[in-house]
Amino acid sequence: MSLQIIHYPHPTLRHVSKPLKRVDAELKQMVARMFELMYEHEGVGLAANQVDLPYRLFVANPEGDPNNADAEFVFINPVIKKGTGQHEKEEGCLSIPGVYAPVVRKEKIAVQAYTLEGEEISGELDGLFARIVQHEIDHLDGRLFIDRLTPTQLADISEALEEFEIDFDSKRGVGELPSDELIVARLADLERLRT
Ligand code: ZN
Repeated sequence: MSLQIIHYPHPTLRHVSKPLKRVDAELKQMVARMFELMYEHEGVGLAANQVDLPYRLFVANPEGDPNNADAEFVFINPVIKKGTGQHEKEEGCLSIPGVYAPVVRKEKIAVQAYTLEGEEISGELDGLFARIVQHEIDHLDGRLFIDRLTPTQLADISEALEEFEIDFDSKRGVGELPSDELIVARLADLERLRT
């Protein structure tokens, strides 16, 4: 399966992922490919929805440095147990490249998840890492950072979003993107395999 990053307004970005129940060799390959794509596009996090997969997992490297494997994390079935404080900072997204806006997030979070090896991990995060985890878990719930903007902030980027919508429609028009029905059917098949 060749994975690519999908862009807003692709419907898979609105898919709410079910918990992952089975990790197999093919899924591990998909995760490795997600890291490659994340680095290629100079990101610090990438959720499964963003590569058109219905799985509740994301990859992250808060250092953004491919040579620093110690900072690479895979979060499977992540859950935020607690969040405190508020912090506003500019965010972007590999599925809406070139668009940035300030987003309010929890300053500190307690998160629990599983690794690819099935080990439970939990801990408290703050700073950029806490922001990445909240942004990526939003993806798994079918939510984008633009959904968290005020109407004024949204108005500021509406033209850029419209360009993505026009691009999406024209790609569909020439058959480069499948219909909503085919996308839903494919996601359901992939879910049956592992969730
Ligand atoms: Zn994103």
